[in-house]
Amino acid sequence: MSEASPIQPQLLSRINETFVLRTIRQHGPSTRSDLSRHMGVTFPTIAKAVSSLLEARLLEEFEEAVTGPGRPPKRLRLSKDKSQVVGITIDVDSCEVAAAGFDGVLRDTSLLSFATPRDYDSLLAAIVDRVQALATEEMPILCIGVSVVGLVNYRRQEIRFAASLPYLGGKQLGQDLSHALGADCLLVHDTHALCLAEYVYGDASSFDTFAVLDLSTGIGLGVMVNGSYLTGHSGFTGEMGHIPVVIGGDKCHCGRRGCLETVASEWALVEHVSAATGRSVPIEEVLSLAANGDQFVRSELGHLNEYLAIAMANVVNLFNPQCIYISGQLFQELPWMRDQLVEQTQQLAIEPAFADCRFLPASGGDMLGAVAAAISAVMSSRVHELHGTLSGIPLGVAWHGVQ
Ligand SMILES: [Zn+2]
Repeated sequence: MSEASPIQPQLLSRINETFVLRTIRQHGPSTRSDLSRHMGVTFPTIAKAVSSLLEARLLEEFEEAVTGPGRPPKRLRLSKDKSQVVGITIDVDSCEVAAAGFDGVLRDTSLLSFATPRDYDSLLAAIVDRVQALATEEMPILCIGVSVVGLVNYRRQEIRFAASLPYLGGKQLGQDLSHALGADCLLVHDTHALCLAEYVYGDASSFDTFAVLDLSTGIGLGVMVNGSYLTGHSGFTGEMGHIPVVIGGDKCHCGRRGCLETVASEWALVEHVSAATGRSVPIEEVLSLAANGDQFVRSELGHLNEYLAIAMANVVNLFNPQCIYISGQLFQELPWMRDQLVEQTQQLAIEPAFADCRFLPASGGDMLGAVAAAISAVMSSRVHELHGTLSGIPLGVAWHGVQ
């Protein structure tokens, strides 16, 4: 941070730039003097960092309406209009593409949805078409964040395995999109995106240790511990759906038997209700039957929660989180399911760790997580691009950039 150091002046400049971005993110629009005071560095150092960030279109300067005598100093904010990031979500049935300013606010008018194509080349073409429609000369795309349903190897930026969209397995979607669009691209697992969305946009900004449980077709877990996002060696942490819970149980789509997903996911619920009624029952109908008090569906939901509570108690015991965010349409539409899950978790978790933990509905979504991933990658890349390309950034480091 010291501008007097003779060591690696370019690196120090970039570190100062990253701190300017973090400080504005934390304190909101600021003058150069505000930044100098918050960061404890000299005005000329701030002025130099700000100049570089204005040129890179990461900041923009604005004047407030005059309300008293004298002209108020210009203030700086994260760019709303001078540049943009793009978020992409890839789910089993549908995909979305949307643009946001570097301030992270989604541009509602930019949201484009489409049915998930059935092969890789069509998916790539569909995304490229829509992202190209968002790019303009006035607003270059700084980075693209992609939330994908599947295991992502963060070091290789490769989708390692996607049970529900098998054609994605082994594909380096981030690199393919970067080549086609000429912009940096960062892939993240969809559950990790949910976790990041809570951290950046939700209440979790005040927590440094929390988890996000995502129950949908499968089950995922995102965990932040002491301010560090857990990715594991390659990015495969949080595969809670494939914890074995039933010895010799039903076959799971991962190839093993008795995984949690075979007894406690939307997929398992739909399978069980369909088998009992002798016809294919979609999840929407299952939820509607439950809301109308169908006894069989209610008892299936009770079993689902019994198994899910085992997993939740393990999360409480292993990580001692301040909060677990619970995400999923099932909990949204049947709020009593969340209360029941918390009660059952209380019976199983160790008492002091359970007493430390709050249970809240998730407020973000994977689109916000994709946008947050893109913004944090740009912030970190101010330093890392001196040493290599964006794809070489360890995600844990990139995500620290959004504090
Ligand atoms: Zn499995």
